[in-house]
Amino acid sequence: MASGKSALLLNRVAYLRSLNKNVSVAMHAVSHRERMHAVSRAGPQEYALRFKGPSDLQHFIRNGEILAIDEIQDLGMSFSAAIGQILDRGFSIVAAGRDTDFRGETFPLMEWLALRAMECVSLSAVCTTCFSPALRSQRLIRGEPAHWDSPVHEQCLPFETYEPRCLDHHQIPGKPR
Ligand SMILES: [Zn+2]
Repeated sequence: MASGKSALLLNRVAYLRSLNKNVSVAMHAVSHRERMHAVSRAGPQEYALRFKGPSDLQHFIRNGEILAIDEIQDLGMSFSAAIGQILDRGFSIVAAGRDTDFRGETFPLMEWLALRAMECVSLSAVCTTCFSPALRSQRLIRGEPAHWDSPVHEQCLPFETYEPRCLDHHQIPGKPR
C-alpha cells in the first residue's frame, strides 16, 4: 500500500549502514514475485535476498548482521519460531509489512511481532477515491475488486494490484454479513 513503509525500511537500512552495521535485505519468495527488489514508490530500492522456509532465514544471519525484511506479513506464523530464535541469539530484525490482508483481517504474524518489537511505527495512506485516511488495502484483479473467497496470495500477476481505501470505499464482493 502507498504508505511509504518500504521507503522507511530502506531509509532505516541506510542509517544502520552509516553506523557500519552489516544489513541484509530480504523478502519471501511469494512477495512481489515480479520484482527483484525491495522497492518503495518514493524511489529507493535494493536487491532483496529471497527465501522460502524458516531455515532459509537462519542462513542470512551471520555475526553482527541485521536482517531487514520487506513485506514481512507474507511470512506467516510458520516463521515465528525462527524469528524468535534469531532474536534470542541477539541479532536484530527490522521489518516492514501490512497489518491487514485485503479482507481487512489482521495478519497473525503482525500481531505476534508487535508484541515483541522494541519499536513499532504505524504509517497510513490516503484513500485513492476520497483522500480520507485509508485503513484497508483494496485488492483489484484486472481492475475489479477481488472476491472474499480469493486466496490471500493470488496467482494472477500482473493483473493483481492494490490501492489504499477508506472503510467506505473498501469493496469485497461476497463478504459474509
Ligand atoms: Zn474513501
